Amino acid sequence: MKYKEKIFSDSSDEEPILTPYKDTGKSKETSSSREEPVAPNDDELPIINLQSETEEADDPVIVHHRHVRPASLYESLDYEICENTLWKADYKRRSQKLIFRKDLARWLIFLVIGIITALIACTINIAIDTFSEMKYGFLAKSVDENLHNGNLYVPYLYWILTSIIPVGLGAALVTYLEPVAAGSGIPQVKCYLNGVKVPRIVRIKTLVVKAIGVVTSVIGGLAGGKEGPMIHSGAVVAAGISQGKSTTFVKDFRVFRYFRDDHEKRDFVLGGASAGVASAFGAPIGGVLFSLEEAASFWNQSLIWRILVSSTISSFTLNVVLSAYYGQTDFTITGLFNLGKFDELPYKYFEIPIFVLMGICGGLLGAFWNTTNSRFHLFRARYIKPGWGKILEAMAVSLLGVSIACTMMYVINDCRTLGKDPTSYPVKLFCGDNEYNAVAALWFQTPESTAKALFHDPPESHQILTVAIFVVVYYFLSCLTFGLNVSLGIFIPTVLVGAAWGRLVSMVLQHMCPTATFLHPGKYALIGAAAQMGGVLRMTISLTVILLETTGVDSTFAFPLIITLITGKFVGDFFNEGIYDIVIRINHVPILPWEPPLKYRSLKASNIMSSPVVCVKMREKANYIIDILKRYTYNGFPVVEDVQGNDRSKGRVCGIILRSQLTVILKESLYEEKKRLWQDQISIETFRNEYPRYPTIDKFELHLDKHDYTVNFDIFMNPSPVRVGEDDSVARIFQTFRALGLRHMIVVDNENRVRGMLTRVDFIFKED
Ligand code: ATP
Repeated sequence: MKYKEKIFSDSSDEEPILTPYKDTGKSKETSSSREEPVAPNDDELPIINLQSETEEADDPVIVHHRHVRPASLYESLDYEICENTLWKADYKRRSQKLIFRKDLARWLIFLVIGIITALIACTINIAIDTFSEMKYGFLAKSVDENLHNGNLYVPYLYWILTSIIPVGLGAALVTYLEPVAAGSGIPQVKCYLNGVKVPRIVRIKTLVVKAIGVVTSVIGGLAGGKEGPMIHSGAVVAAGISQGKSTTFVKDFRVFRYFRDDHEKRDFVLGGASAGVASAFGAPIGGVLFSLEEAASFWNQSLIWRILVSSTISSFTLNVVLSAYYGQTDFTITGLFNLGKFDELPYKYFEIPIFVLMGICGGLLGAFWNTTNSRFHLFRARYIKPGWGKILEAMAVSLLGVSIACTMMYVINDCRTLGKDPTSYPVKLFCGDNEYNAVAALWFQTPESTAKALFHDPPESHQILTVAIFVVVYYFLSCLTFGLNVSLGIFIPTVLVGAAWGRLVSMVLQHMCPTATFLHPGKYALIGAAAQMGGVLRMTISLTVILLETTGVDSTFAFPLIITLITGKFVGDFFNEGIYDIVIRINHVPILPWEPPLKYRSLKASNIMSSPVVCVKMREKANYIIDILKRYTYNGFPVVEDVQGNDRSKGRVCGIILRSQLTVILKESLYEEKKRLWQDQISIETFRNEYPRYPTIDKFELHLDKHDYTVNFDIFMNPSPVRVGEDDSVARIFQTFRALGLRHMIVVDNENRVRGMLTRVDFIFKED
């Protein structure tokens, strides 16, 4: 019988990240028929052998496990405050002054998070702008120089080199230095805020790789943007600053120690994520709404206030710094995602059905995009495993993009009069004097600038054929790109594809009714972008506000935007989930949905709980504790008393103790027999100091003399764990579990005796 081992220690810090494995989707089974989860690659997932039942039967310590589900690769965060004796003593000691200081520090940290996130965004933006200017300026010059002598392969080669080298570099950084920095980071942040410990997600190293990675990917010309990664960066900044120490640099600044727990850290990370959105889009309200709609699972009123402060300050700082850098005295650079402002965007009532139709199209296109992308994802997980393979793949996609762009520029003859188009690098190519190639204008800049051009270019800037081919090419290219092992967001390509087909709709309609005056191409590009975002991302409230804040359209246009986004979302939802949820599901992260699974509604706690439960007595021997810690991977053990014989699993519940607490107790030798040595020094700080990397148990060896020492859990355990009855409805307890951000729930009978255990996997894996 095999069982998947979880890695002990804080542990989880060293686990594989978002490594997909096949979910058996099985309900709990007896140990005799229990199946191990199937992993794509057994080398990556350590498997340990547990004793067989016959062996266990002779061992009084070990209980038979009849109803236990495979542990997830991911552990949960402890959002529950452990109000034990130490915590209460600390709380009582706090003077009014200290409480005020802590509150002030909290506000201050949110402020600093906003400022630093914005400064990182500015650095990324300036780096991308500088390198892109150099790259596209050089390429445009090279095309013009080599056109006459017919050596067009020269700029093509230059373009390839200036694309695949940065992309390869970024992919290598992500692959070999910090794999968790891959992608946009939004799914990972979402998981973290939902209560899942995604290893290494909030490390400084991750931030550095993410920042460099996003610069290289955008310069390399991949179909992606820098906005998503900014949200992840904000989260890392928040986690780093709020803890007053760096595990990467092994440096403890001895400040903000009272914020060293998962509960506090989660609130700061939420503030960081919304500061990231605010600086990315110049949308402070959108940032708050994004965090609430997409990322946060738990919030309260004062937290909303604080995240509003961090997002506002973030967007303000970015505006000041970038405006000063680019010499703009009117402070118009509100975010990285700069789509330019619309002066006025009037619409007629009869356009509403057109917008709805566009929403439906966005939903269909988005759903197809999501399905195709998830297929690519599975293909990659199965066939592209070695690191060099992932790097080569990223470079190949970059090469493909350049080659398609060059072919389009070569084959399509779309010349426009110079001067009208705002492109920075007009390329003449085969056009006449005083003309520029409109296809080159779409490709010879960052995707963000192209999206901006599609919103604001004058009506006659492109041919229908050019835009139509561009839509098809970019749609598939972006689908192929999202999921590569590089740091890159999905907002920009989604906006770009939507803006392109939205503009195309207006061009076709204009072609059919040349006298129509309402067909503003920018307006249709914006609606197309909203439809595509609704179809791919499925966020409605925050996206509406983000689009309003980013494009500066007045609130009368909110109605068409909402209609389009909602239609796109509903149509897409009919087929599949939003792309972030798909990524999370593919990687089997045990994220709790908003509602309990439908099938659970008629079940009782006893139907889904694990039993029997591994418990500890109130006063427990050290060697027993070590034995269960080494033998089981669980992170929580009910503390019981009134046990019959050696069978602790039916004891009366008096609290719960966590693995992290047990390892600290053992490490610090907090035994009853030695009480006089530690009782004056012990405090909540003893445990906080170890956070988040608690000691591991696997290498722990107990000195022979200490084997019979006793630990009294009275002052360490959480005396008020959430308990539920065996007959309580699953729908009800799910709400409690989710709303309180719990990690463990103990199922008890009428006499308060342990009957079973519930953790997040019990609410998830049986869903299928
Ligand atoms: P998490 O992984 O969420 O941090 P955990 O490590 O304590 O929590 P899981 O790995 O989720 O627990 O547990 C896997 C399975 O084991 C679940 O079905 C759960 O109900 C069960 N389980 C958890 N703790 C115990 C325990 N002390 N005794 C018996 N079964 C348990």
